[in-house]
Amino acid sequence: MIPLGDVQAEVLRSVAPLAPVWTPVTDALGLVLVEPVIATEPVPPFANTAMDGYALRAVDTAGATEGAPVQLRVVADLAAGHAPTVPVGPGEAIRIMTGAPIPDGADAIVMVERTEREEPDGVLVLHAATAGDHLRPAGTDVEPGQRVFEPGTVLGPAHLGVIASLGLPEVLVVPRARVGVLSTGDELREGPVELAPGQIRDSNRPMLLAMLRDAGFDAVNLGIAHDDEAFVERVLGDALTTCDAVITSGGVSVGDYDVVKAVLDRLGVLQWWQVAIKPAKPFAFGLLRGVPLFGLPGNPVSSHVSFELFARPALRRMSGHTEPSRREVDAVAANAMPRRPDGKLHLDRVVVAYEDGRYVAERSGAQASNALAALAMANGLALLPDGDGAAAGDIIRVMLLD
Ligand code: AMP
Ligand code: MG
Repeated sequence: MIPLGDVQAEVLRSVAPLAPVWTPVTDALGLVLVEPVIATEPVPPFANTAMDGYALRAVDTAGATEGAPVQLRVVADLAAGHAPTVPVGPGEAIRIMTGAPIPDGADAIVMVERTEREEPDGVLVLHAATAGDHLRPAGTDVEPGQRVFEPGTVLGPAHLGVIASLGLPEVLVVPRARVGVLSTGDELREGPVELAPGQIRDSNRPMLLAMLRDAGFDAVNLGIAHDDEAFVERVLGDALTTCDAVITSGGVSVGDYDVVKAVLDRLGVLQWWQVAIKPAKPFAFGLLRGVPLFGLPGNPVSSHVSFELFARPALRRMSGHTEPSRREVDAVAANAMPRRPDGKLHLDRVVVAYEDGRYVAERSGAQASNALAALAMANGLALLPDGDGAAAGDIIRVMLLD
């Protein structure tokens, strides 16, 4: 058996970020920037009002209070999206809406709540303004020439909003890895069919496709490979030309007869590892025509855990992320987590909660490698080193899955 860290390091070493592409801002959520975003125009583009109210000259409101208001003449109405047509002169005001440009002559806004309208064309100002009140000068969010976002930034919704506000239609990013998922095994069926004796439903493929999407990758459904070598060879051959990576599940155990194994070994050199972990001991990996192939074990929990340990970090690296791994924290074991010495690191499915300033972890249910329902309840993997396990109250290491 080979230690987990050695396999993870070897897999990460074998992959590199995909070639950058110019991508429309509307398609760039979650992608990693390759070039800095540099502002070519100010945001906001012109001085404007942060409030609905009146644009005026602060000096005209000196001493104004609710008991002793100042009366000004309203010379115009100005909505957002319109340019002022008249300036504000002494004793004058322009009724103005949030986002409208500041008219010439005005140096402050008094919000509408601190005024009273005097028909037909007057306004009583109940408050003494200070120059600059509620004004948003041009460039106060972003200035022209400013490096707004650095390479390596993972673009979230607000980043995309800023980039759109700068009028940039596209960004140079690492594309989303496009990843094919193939299930292997003659026993697998899909859809609402009645199962013949010995058959089971394919749960790994929907799960792995969802895990890929959840992690921000493009997931490609390659179907189920039954014992038909020609079919498997064609599907995998196509996938190697259309996908950035391929994931298979099943057929990687020692002594397993599987057509996929035979086909894979013809397509390139794979390493068939026995990793010192439980679950997910068997794992195959290699570059087939330059495309990384992850051969995950078939048991659903093993598939899930080996995706987390090997595929997700490598695919994140390919997608330009500088931090490929999940976060690990120290947690208090809520109750005993016994295990037997077997030379392996155990990854137990746990529910982790943050309580009173510390993480607390508890097994989420059955720990067998086919017990997917207990994994579905979990939000962490407890890393239990070889030995007898943890006692209640022990500090354990937990990899967070969310
Ligand atoms: P294998 O890794 O092919 O030896 O499979 C190990 C176990 O996982 C067997 O019980 C398989 O029936 C089961 N298995 C394999 N592939 C899948 C799948 N796609 N969905 C659910 N169970 C699977
Ligand atoms: Mg199988």
